Amino acid sequence: MHNNNPFTRFTGKLRSFRSGSNRTKLLLFAFTLIAIGFALGGLQGNPAVQPVSISLDLPARHDFKPAPLAGIDTGTETESVTTPATDESWQRVTVNAGQSLDTIFREQGFSARTLFEIMALNQDTKQLKKIRPGDLFEFQRHEDGSLKRMRYAVDEGNYLIIDHDGEEAIASTVARNLITRVEETSGTITSSLFLAGKQAGLNDGMVMKLANLFGWDIDFVLDIRAGDRFWLIYEKIYRDGSFLRDGEIIGATFVNQGEKFQAIRFMLDGQAQYFAPGGQNMRKAFLRAPLNFSYISSSFNPKRYHPILKRVKAHNGIDYKAPKGTPVFAAGDGKVIRSAYSKYNGHHVFIQHANSIVTKYLHFTRRTVKQGQRVKQGQVIGYVGATGLAQAPHLHYEFVVNGVHRNPRTVPLPKVDTLKADQLAAFRVAAAPILSRLSRLEAASMYASQ
Ligand SMILES: [Zn+2]
Repeated sequence: MHNNNPFTRFTGKLRSFRSGSNRTKLLLFAFTLIAIGFALGGLQGNPAVQPVSISLDLPARHDFKPAPLAGIDTGTETESVTTPATDESWQRVTVNAGQSLDTIFREQGFSARTLFEIMALNQDTKQLKKIRPGDLFEFQRHEDGSLKRMRYAVDEGNYLIIDHDGEEAIASTVARNLITRVEETSGTITSSLFLAGKQAGLNDGMVMKLANLFGWDIDFVLDIRAGDRFWLIYEKIYRDGSFLRDGEIIGATFVNQGEKFQAIRFMLDGQAQYFAPGGQNMRKAFLRAPLNFSYISSSFNPKRYHPILKRVKAHNGIDYKAPKGTPVFAAGDGKVIRSAYSKYNGHHVFIQHANSIVTKYLHFTRRTVKQGQRVKQGQVIGYVGATGLAQAPHLHYEFVVNGVHRNPRTVPLPKVDTLKADQLAAFRVAAAPILSRLSRLEAASMYASQ
C-alpha cells in the first residue's frame, strides 16, 4: 500500500510556514486560505483525516497553441461563412413531434414540387426524411413567397443549404465555425471527485472522462482519498462564437495517495488513445474496479473503507459496498464460464480470461449474461444486489490467477498494445509539450499551496 500520505506532507509544509520567514503578500494570502480550510475542516470532526481545502483554480488560458500534434485539432479562427442565425431575414421553424418536412412545407406555403426537387438532389438532402422534433429549419423567401433559401444543421459542424432561384434547387454543405480551445484546470479532492471536478469548473461528463482515463490504474471506488489531486489540459468546443460542449482530454496528471499517474493523448491508427509518459497504453487488459463508480463515490467517507480493508484479508475477494442496481462490468475480455444462482453466492458470474485469469462476481440482484457467452471489457454483466449470503447490497469481487486468489486492488495487470519503436518516437515528440505544460500547471498550484 501507499505510505506517502499527502496529509502528512501537507500539514508538514504548513508547520514550516508558520515558523517560516518569507512573508510575501502571496504567502499570507495562501495562509489565510489554508487557515479557513482548517477552520472548516475542524468543524467537520476528526482533523487528522480532514483535508485542507484551498482553491487551486488557475485562470484559463486561451493562448496555448500546442506544437502541431497528430490528431489534435486546435481549430481555426476563420470567419464564419454563413449568415448568423440571428439574421432577421431568416425565418426559423422548429420541428414539432410528428412533423415531417412535408407538413412544414405545407404550413409555410411552399410547393410540394419544390420539396420533391430538394429531396431528389443528393444523399445529403435524402437525410431530410429523418428530421426529429427540436430540429431547426431556417427559410428565406422570394418576393412571391416561394422558397429562396433553406438552412438546416445536418450535424454539429455543418449546415445543409438549399438555394432555389425559382427554377431549380442547388444543395451545398457549409462548415460552421467550430473552434476548439485548450483549457487547463486543477483540483484537490476533499469530499468527492465529482465535487472537486465541479470546483475546478468541470462538468460530470468531463469528470467521468478523467476517471475512465485512469480507471485501469486507480480504483475510483475504494482508493480515492481526500488530498488526491488532479491537473487537466482539455478541450472546449465553441460554435459560432458560443460554448457548445467539452471536447477531449489532451493530458492529465492524477496523484492518488501520493502516487502519480499521467496520461497523454496520442493519435494511433487514426484513433485517439492515451499513453503514460513512458509510452505504455493507459488501457489495460483489466479494469481496476469492475463497477460504475459514479453510482458510489458521490460522497466520500474515509471511515467507510476500514472495515472493507480488514475484510480483504478475511476472505478471498473485495466487497464493494454499492447501491442496489449499480452496473457491474466485465473487468476484461473473456468468456462467461458460469452464470447461475446459488444459496451462498446468490446470482453470480464467473469469467475466464486469457493468461489463466478468472474473475468472479457475486450477490447480483440480476445477471445480464449467459454461460458460454463472450464478453468485452466494460460490458455490463449484472447489477449489484444482496442475493445469497449478503446482508446489504454489495459486489463481492475475486481475481484468480492460475487458481490462486490475488488481491484485485494490487495485482499487477497485464498490459496491452505497446508502441512500436517508430510510434514511440512520434509519441515522445507529441507528448513533450503536453508534459511540460502539465509540469508548469503542477508547479503553479504547488507554489500556490505553500
Ligand atoms: Zn465478500
